[in-house]
Amino acid sequence: MHVLVRGAGVAGLTLAHELVRAGVRVTVCDTRSGPAGSASWLAGGMLAPWCERESAEEPVLTLGKSAADWWEATLPGHVLRNGTLVVAPARDRAELDRFAARTSGHEWLEGEAVTALEPDLAGRFRRGLFFRGEAHLDPRRALTALVEGLRKAGVRFVCEMEVEADRIADCTGMAAADPELRGVRGEMLILRTQEINLSRPVRLLHPRIPVYIVPRADHHFMVGATMIESDDAGPISARSMMELLNAAYSLHPAFAEAKIVETGAGVRPAYPDNLPRVKRTPEGISVNGFYRHGFLLSPAMAREAATLILNERVEVFDEAHG
Ligand SMILES: Cc1cc2nc3c(=O)[nH]c(=O)nc-3n(C[C@H](O)[C@H](O)[C@H](O)COP(=O)(O)OP(=O)(O)OC[C@H]3O[C@@H](n4cnc5c(N)ncnc54)[C@H](O)[C@@H]3O)c2cc1C
Repeated sequence: MHVLVRGAGVAGLTLAHELVRAGVRVTVCDTRSGPAGSASWLAGGMLAPWCERESAEEPVLTLGKSAADWWEATLPGHVLRNGTLVVAPARDRAELDRFAARTSGHEWLEGEAVTALEPDLAGRFRRGLFFRGEAHLDPRRALTALVEGLRKAGVRFVCEMEVEADRIADCTGMAAADPELRGVRGEMLILRTQEINLSRPVRLLHPRIPVYIVPRADHHFMVGATMIESDDAGPISARSMMELLNAAYSLHPAFAEAKIVETGAGVRPAYPDNLPRVKRTPEGISVNGFYRHGFLLSPAMAREAATLILNERVEVFDEAHG
């Protein structure tokens, strides 16, 4: 069987990986020549099912718990299992209680315990929530490594859309012709500073604009992200830029001297319940609607989608052989 995967974002690449593992011939096509610019390229790379449960449905936790293991097994060395720290400015301490009440898998940290975890935040936050089981990765390194691994395994990457295949898997995100999908715009920044070190994603709660900062290699920090009901992928707005920078500054004033290395806006494809779906289509399947959880949920959805394609193959084989 030959499957054409349309879309080389995290949804398409994880599915291609699962299919190749099962011995299926795969071609991946994308309208872009590389992954830069897709929603996946702009992601924070947090694998944070317990934190996300604060505003997400139960499947995000149940399906997302195994994501870090999948990424580690697929791309050894890419996953950092340092947990997530959640803090709030003194005036928003009630936000921390509310967050704790809506989530599980955390432990309370008081005073010195916050400092022990992140020494550069010494004296800034008297309480925090630590989600020990969570992890993160650098999405750009992960996507690039997935492509490399797939190429080595014989997968062809093409730009043309018309490729003969037995089945087509549509993983084109917002470009998919699915009237149920809507866009949720997410703006982000990448800052660089040597003045502060963090070992894990830190979420700063705020009633209006909760933000997170994800440390990356070479003193880079991803600051994200807005959540705007819009499919506009245009440049970041001045307001969002100010809010994200303000949040970074309130986490630590050293961010005021950071260099702004990059700004970006991606559109998260989402279904009405904000949960991803594997759907049958006339040509095969579609895997879409990852919303805030592309890296978190694509492993589970890729397994489900690959199983559907493979079972279909068994059904077709059975029919052909009586
Ligand atoms: C700022 C931000 C932060 C985020 N942080 C996180 C996070 O920390 N953790 C997490 O799990 N998720 C996060 N997400 C969500 C995650 O990025 C998305 O859920 C995910 O990227 C969706 O992946 P996708 O492959 O469905 O879509 P995309 O990444 O958009 O990929 C779709 C691909 O299809 C291609 N395409 C379009 N049309 C065609 C066509 N006709 N034929 C072939 N190819 C086509 C596009 O070029 C693109 O490469 C974040 C998102 C944003 C915007």
